[in-house]
Amino acid sequence: MPLVVQKFGGSSVATAERIMRAARRAINARQAGSQVIVVVSARGDTTDELIELAKEITDRPPAREMDMLLATGEQISIALMAMAIQTLGEKAISFTGAQIGIVTDSYHTKARIKNISTQRMRQALDEGKIVIVAGFQGIDEDYNITTLGRGGSDTTAVALAAVMKHRGQESGISQESGDRGQGSGVGCEIYTDVDGVYTTDPRIVPEARKLDAISYDEMLELASVGAGVMHSRSIEFAKKFDVPLQVRSSFTDTEGTWIVPESEWMHEVPVCGAAIVKDEARVGIVGVPDQPGISHRIFSAIAEQNIAVDMIAQNVGSGGKASIGFTVTKNELPNTLAVVRPLAALLGAAVEHAEEVSKVSIVGTGMRTHTGVAERMFAALADAGVNMKMITTGDIKISVLVDKSDGVKALRSVHQTFQLDKPRAGAGLPVGVTPAAVPARAPAVLDDNGRDLAAITQQLSSMEDIVVSDVQLSTDQGTITVFNLPDQPGNCSKVFQAVAEGGIVVDTIVQNLSGPGRAQLSFSVPAADLDRAGALTHAFAQKLNPPAQVVADAHIARLFVLGIGMRTHTGVARRMFGALAERGINIRMINTSEVRVSVVVDQRRGEEALAALKTAFNVG
Ligand code: ADP
Ligand code: ASP
Ligand code: MG
Repeated sequence: MPLVVQKFGGSSVATAERIMRAARRAINARQAGSQVIVVVSARGDTTDELIELAKEITDRPPAREMDMLLATGEQISIALMAMAIQTLGEKAISFTGAQIGIVTDSYHTKARIKNISTQRMRQALDEGKIVIVAGFQGIDEDYNITTLGRGGSDTTAVALAAVMKHRGQESGISQESGDRGQGSGVGCEIYTDVDGVYTTDPRIVPEARKLDAISYDEMLELASVGAGVMHSRSIEFAKKFDVPLQVRSSFTDTEGTWIVPESEWMHEVPVCGAAIVKDEARVGIVGVPDQPGISHRIFSAIAEQNIAVDMIAQNVGSGGKASIGFTVTKNELPNTLAVVRPLAALLGAAVEHAEEVSKVSIVGTGMRTHTGVAERMFAALADAGVNMKMITTGDIKISVLVDKSDGVKALRSVHQTFQLDKPRAGAGLPVGVTPAAVPARAPAVLDDNGRDLAAITQQLSSMEDIVVSDVQLSTDQGTITVFNLPDQPGNCSKVFQAVAEGGIVVDTIVQNLSGPGRAQLSFSVPAADLDRAGALTHAFAQKLNPPAQVVADAHIARLFVLGIGMRTHTGVARRMFGALAERGINIRMINTSEVRVSVVVDQRRGEEALAALKTAFNVG
């Protein structure tokens, strides 16, 4: 029998009437012949209210007790949902995360799922019951209640779909040997207060348009750069375990947005969506020794506190010193500074930070093939008079950090520049393909190298382990660095305009503040174009007052670690930088995204770095 996991978010269970409506949906699916698991969030603003309640007692609530408190929100919802379904005449039973054995690690308030037992759910399903599970919560190995981080009910839902899809009875996904359990008949529907995934948050930009379909990678990246409609870790699960997902409205029957494996038509446009994180914080460590192992020391100390670093912009050093800039979400700033300050003091470096900053990002797999995307984004921001404090790129995203007061303006201007408000070919499915047909037709999810990710996940020791599918080396690019670029709107844009006029394709871009009113910009271009790109950049830099300095470097190697959920797993960067530090290989540039972390090193150390990273991540 097919199985569907239906997840209802907070607004979809906010009132008794809405709970009844959700209950009817679950019953319809059951009566249409599916087994049904319902995952529910806390009702309405319950979670926020619980947080406020804790704040009335203390500014720094202990994380364990916070989880104990927050988990109650979902417990209310499951009981009410079970009552609703039973009242409507179907059999139903509610379970907390602990009751069905959702075992997590012990990082309270941001725990990761290690394993889920299917036995109790299967038994209830086999008895003909609709199974109702509390989202967002689990239990650690010492029976402490844990939560998965804000928005985590999506992750519960997709994890349940994954485990029901891939698992027979009691063995973990990790131990399973090729048994696909219920196989392809498992789907997951996310019911929320919008009718799908939009090109950007429709509450902020009303011109945003609904997408019919979006790829796992694009959704993963969009969610991780701020599209609050889905918890990014849920997309990690969906991709890893090949779970077809649909995001749709709980209030209407409109077809929602399918989140599916990548297909050709998605490359037709460079950008599929944009997002904003309003509350970021920037930390700069200025004047660190430009030596091997420094990034490792800093980022491993941060990772040890399980703080996910967001943008990282480490520039090429000069005069034996380098500066490292990175961002974290604003609520992580105090903890981050507590880690970084003593370390910087040891290194003789200074720490600065800024709180009123927002991050605006664009995402699209089409960026891999379309050129000039960054230049268009920067030009739009320059036209809007928005200054960029930091820039980082991934292979399918570009993020810029701006003043918080410029955030919404910046988001609107990039949304318009890439015509996300206009209907387009790539916003829908190919002619003749119905959305419902997509998951059935979807092949096993393959990464860019044609590896079967489902097969890779068999080797995981726990469900939310990081998947690293490949490490690659490329020596076909060189870097250009502009030192002392005046930190004013339009300067970056003009550099890229100059380079684009030469028909040169820019790949990785990193911009960081290097001192008061000064920015440092580094980017890579094909080795064959390096001299020309250097000359064009130099010509522009000469026109500035005072002129900026330009240095080109042909002797670089770029290393890429590819996988899923690379940024949010704090351990990836740590392992990567650690492996290089151990061999005394200096990191010159760093770039992160959810599907790729890359570093630039001295070309002479390229092969050695490749071998080190392959060993560190255990890939052939
Ligand atoms: P739920 O409680 O159902 O999980 P959320 O509030 O977590 O609902 O997510 C839905 C909200 O996400 C929408 O109301 C919308 O404002 C916001 N959102 C942000 N980015 C997007 C986007 N790209 N597409 C759709 N909604 C978005
Ligand atoms: N109730 C939790 C929250 O508000 C989990 C969720 O809604 O997904 O973050
Ligand atoms: Mg949500």
